[in-house]
Amino acid sequence: MVVGAGVGGLAAAARLAADGHEVVVLEQADAVGGKLGTEVVDGFVFDTGPSLVTMPWVLEELFAATGAPLADVLELRRLAVACRYTFPDGTVLDLPGDLADVPAALDAALGPGRGAQWTAFLGRARAVWDVTRGPFLESPISARGMLRLSRRLGDVATVAPWRSLRGLGARYLEDPRLRLLLDRYATYTGSDPRAAPAALATVPWAEQAWGSWYVPGGLGRIAEVLRARVEELGGEVRTGARVVEVLVADGRAAGVRLADGTTLDADVVVANADAAEVYGHLLPGRRAARARRSIARATPSLAGFVLLLALDDPPADQPHHQVLFAEDYDEEFDAVFGRRGPARPVERPTVYVSAPDDPAVVPGPETGAWFVLVNAPRHDPDGSRGAGVDWDAPGLAEAYADRLLDLMAERGLDVRDRVRHRTVLTPADLERRTSTPGGSIYGTSSNGARAAFLRPANRSPVPGLYLVGGSAHPGGGLPLVMLSARIVADLVRRDDASGQPR
Ligand SMILES: Cc1cc2nc3c(=O)[nH]c(=O)nc-3n(C[C@H](O)[C@H](O)[C@H](O)COP(=O)(O)OP(=O)(O)OC[C@H]3O[C@@H](n4cnc5c(N)ncnc54)[C@H](O)[C@@H]3O)c2cc1C
Repeated sequence: MVVGAGVGGLAAAARLAADGHEVVVLEQADAVGGKLGTEVVDGFVFDTGPSLVTMPWVLEELFAATGAPLADVLELRRLAVACRYTFPDGTVLDLPGDLADVPAALDAALGPGRGAQWTAFLGRARAVWDVTRGPFLESPISARGMLRLSRRLGDVATVAPWRSLRGLGARYLEDPRLRLLLDRYATYTGSDPRAAPAALATVPWAEQAWGSWYVPGGLGRIAEVLRARVEELGGEVRTGARVVEVLVADGRAAGVRLADGTTLDADVVVANADAAEVYGHLLPGRRAARARRSIARATPSLAGFVLLLALDDPPADQPHHQVLFAEDYDEEFDAVFGRRGPARPVERPTVYVSAPDDPAVVPGPETGAWFVLVNAPRHDPDGSRGAGVDWDAPGLAEAYADRLLDLMAERGLDVRDRVRHRTVLTPADLERRTSTPGGSIYGTSSNGARAAFLRPANRSPVPGLYLVGGSAHPGGGLPLVMLSARIVADLVRRDDASGQPR
């Protein structure tokens, strides 16, 4: 039984079905995909969540392990320009999608020597990746176990758990624009670069080593083909089925109760719902008390404010992805995480724009389906969740959307006269659509030295109950979520084979 048909739930379901389990996936929403959502308006097809695929081998491996290869069911297209960055001083950098071309591009856009600085940094990042990939990203190891592992002398110096991502960057990157570039990668885990660990250096490494990819027709296609894979393997996917309780009998998970009161029995329950939901609401009582306390001690990851823009006659020659950097990135993180004042919508945030050049996502020529995203504080309607904002406050979302369009124009990307229609998605909307508390994109953040210890493990305290997805180990983002599904399937297999109570 899998609770939730996000990428994590579907990937786990496919693997478990391929292992011969009878699998039922229960999804509270009317569609599968979770945060990997799709919105279709008048022939414009928008991805509402992810717009970038990294580490494509994770997806390929998932399909290879469960049946026909990925190439048979889905096209992945590599982007020649990974992203265009516009820095506060006006410098524009088209970051190549091929790592071999990156140093020359940095030298050309930012000045001689910048390529060498970044290459030296990536050398360190790669070393961290090599040390952490197997034992951390691909294993059910707890963060505590990770610490034991990294105590081996060479490893600990490489991973530098005492250093922040920004601190590590400062050792290699003299150019402030390169430091900004690095800072942004902390947001891939919903974190603040000043507080996130140096180990997040693996994020730019993984992105640049394996490239930036797009799915023609939109990334939502990934959810479609995952669902199809589950069903081909005999699994059942039920939408509109909200789980309200994980049932426990004789000390182990025994099934679930749905909102309509129905109960369903199961030997294994894999929860893809946010870990805070699982331990806060689905699993009542003392069993989850410790897990609840850990989550409460961690800083929740940041949320996002999204604009879906249906454009007529969009500006020509736009890259697929672009980032218009904030003039003051620290103020952005202060606002989002509620430092130096209460959490607040960022006055002048970094703006990310995804403008796919793909006829399959627009109704005709001279139109564009653009996705605009800025970092945002979580939704906190009544101030009870710590640092957050009431995104449902009357007028706030629309006024903020207007402000973002003005800001884009100020930074050279004026589409205000071209908007045929727009959809605004706040952290409150993400919470409503996916039952994600506060709309935090990645569960708990990586902020703080203790963060890794506080992230929920894949094996829950209740035998037979496992956690999969971005709020559990090893973390958020599509590739990591799919890795968590592999870890869970391995755990179930191992627990089966050992004859131990799961
Ligand atoms: C705006 C945005 C941009 C992003 N950009 C990128 C990107 O470019 N690249 C990238 O790799 N990642 C990106 N991400 C992150 C990525 O989308 C997530 O890490 C990933 O999709 C999470 O998958 P999941 O399976 O862990 O969780 P979810 O997608 O949240 O799935 C959980 C599912 O469980 C269901 N559920 C919850 N509670 C219950 C219940 N009680 N009963 C039944 N069902 C329940 C939910 O409805 C949901 O479908 C982005 C996310 C957002 C929101």
